[in-house]
Amino acid sequence: PGSLGVAWARAWVEASADVMRQNRMALIDLDRAIGDGDHGENMDRGFTAVLGKLQSTETETIGDVLALVAKTLMSTVGGAAGPLYGTAYLRASKAAGTTLDAAGVADVLEAALGGIVARGKADREDKTMVDAWGPASEAARDVARAGGSGVEAVQAAAEAAQAGAVATEPLTARKGRASYLGARSVGHRDPGAQSTALLLDAAAAAARE
Ligand code: ADP
Ligand code: MG
Ligand code: MG
Repeated sequence: PGSLGVAWARAWVEASADVMRQNRMALIDLDRAIGDGDHGENMDRGFTAVLGKLQSTETETIGDVLALVAKTLMSTVGGAAGPLYGTAYLRASKAAGTTLDAAGVADVLEAALGGIVARGKADREDKTMVDAWGPASEAARDVARAGGSGVEAVQAAAEAAQAGAVATEPLTARKGRASYLGARSVGHRDPGAQSTALLLDAAAAAARE
């Protein structure tokens, strides 16, 4: 307990597949309001495929697990979110050491964020998943600076991502499909920010196991 290794990474994927299945309709509803209504379907399909691959693949490191996630999401999710999450998990896989302490968690989340920004060019407050990954990586870094554990860092990241997703509601979308709506995107939560919060919540749940 307290250490985040390959068993945690595998448990994170399993929890992610569960949470995407359970929140499929909720994410569809969010995307119906400001997009094309497919985000829940895209994410559920992607993580169901990831889970299948994981169950038939031996993994030695956290990086192996995250690289498998990246590759599978790239080929199954499509749309905007597929390449964005694919790049996030690919960068995260390269940043992950054998076990993650709080600084390691922060490194992984910063790498994921860097991948999303490199691909999607969104700034903070453009009402995208960046508004969840950004606060999450900062929260993990704060825990590391304060001398907390890897488990505490993941928990703090999950809470910050959820707060970040909620904070997208009053924003006007400036990237992705929702930006076509302009001011009419105000008052709705960004689906990708919410799926990010759910994935990091799954990471925290796996860390508590
Ligand atoms: P699509 O819009 O192609 O249907 P999804 O519905 O699966 O794709 O994903 C939409 C989500 O992708 C948005 O809610 C937003 O969080 C994210 N997104 C879209 N464009 C960008 C971007 N340029 N940078 C970061 N995130 C983005
Ligand atoms: Mg969509
Ligand atoms: Mg779509």
